[in-house]
Amino acid sequence: MAKRDFYEVLGVAKNASDDEIKKAYRKLAMKYHPDRNPGSREAEEKFKEVKEAYEVLADEDKRSAYDRFGHAGVDPNAGAGMGGAGFAEAFGDIFGEIFGGGGRRGGPQVYRGADLKYSLEISLEQAASGFDTEIRVPSWETCETCHGTGAKPGTHPKTCHTCGGSGTVRMQQGFFSVQQTCPTCHGSGKEITDPCTTCDGVGRTRKNKTLQVKIPAGIDDGMRIRSSGNGEPGVNGGPPGDLYVEIHLKPHGIFQRDGEDLHCELTIPFTKAALGGALEVPTLSGKGEISIPEGTQTGKTFRLRGKGIRGLRASYPGDLYCHVTVETPVRLSDEQKKLLRQFESSLAQGGEKHSPKSESWTDKVKSFFS
Ligand SMILES: [Zn+2]
Ligand SMILES: [Zn+2]
Repeated sequence: MAKRDFYEVLGVAKNASDDEIKKAYRKLAMKYHPDRNPGSREAEEKFKEVKEAYEVLADEDKRSAYDRFGHAGVDPNAGAGMGGAGFAEAFGDIFGEIFGGGGRRGGPQVYRGADLKYSLEISLEQAASGFDTEIRVPSWETCETCHGTGAKPGTHPKTCHTCGGSGTVRMQQGFFSVQQTCPTCHGSGKEITDPCTTCDGVGRTRKNKTLQVKIPAGIDDGMRIRSSGNGEPGVNGGPPGDLYVEIHLKPHGIFQRDGEDLHCELTIPFTKAALGGALEVPTLSGKGEISIPEGTQTGKTFRLRGKGIRGLRASYPGDLYCHVTVETPVRLSDEQKKLLRQFESSLAQGGEKHSPKSESWTDKVKSFFS
């Protein structure tokens, strides 16, 4: 059996107000209520029909879907297994933009505020240990002159003449009617003819505020900390955006960071490199000491376990790598030069065994020219 039109069921006009619909429903529901009509199948059917019609027409979204798509727009049995309300909502969401109306009929357009970015430069030590800091960020306050209306004191915002206060306008684009934000009032539905001079009609003024920010230990370059709701304010009562604190690591005089590991260059005198022994090395937590073997060459790397940085979610800190550079002594005195020459001739007596690199290098050169 074909379903009757819901307006017809309730006996109201297509443009009936919510109140008229409610009144019509109450009257009919009383009339067909099962308690008043015991044993009557006809009354029971009528009661169900009235109830169903009312449930749709009393709900703004469902009514709008029904107006546009008929029973298919709200019938839980129609369509590919979509629920009643869900189906209507889906239509509202998907077709709202195209057909206009959608889930929200009229009313100012609400937008979330934009996100803000704040660049924070921190030292490697601060990143490694974490710290609390304060930052100054822009914030907005209701304008004291116009109390947020944006209109010059003594004047009032008028209802927008372009959109009649709905905040949206319909544009005919071929077959479709497209709903767009009103170009005159930008969705607020209000038009300010005499703007407040303090805030230029925006209704709020920009101030700065101090925010406490907790920088967690282990944070690395480029990471962001979100401060919820501290971005720009929303438009027409929409929620504010978020503030993102973006971390930038200052270059360090000694250490280069690579994730959780640290690297540093270790310059040692050639005598120390030749003789070996204890050597002082810098670490983030102060001075450390390592023991280097005899005959240490440039390019040799020493790893200090756990002397790196503990990452944000890591259980153990990374390592510190010390890269050795052997330094050639300069500005020698005559006496020192004399000693070195003696040393040189002593080395020559020992042959190439004292110079492992030169030995292999000389071999390569020989084979290159032969
Ligand atoms: Zn103002
Ligand atoms: Zn407008």
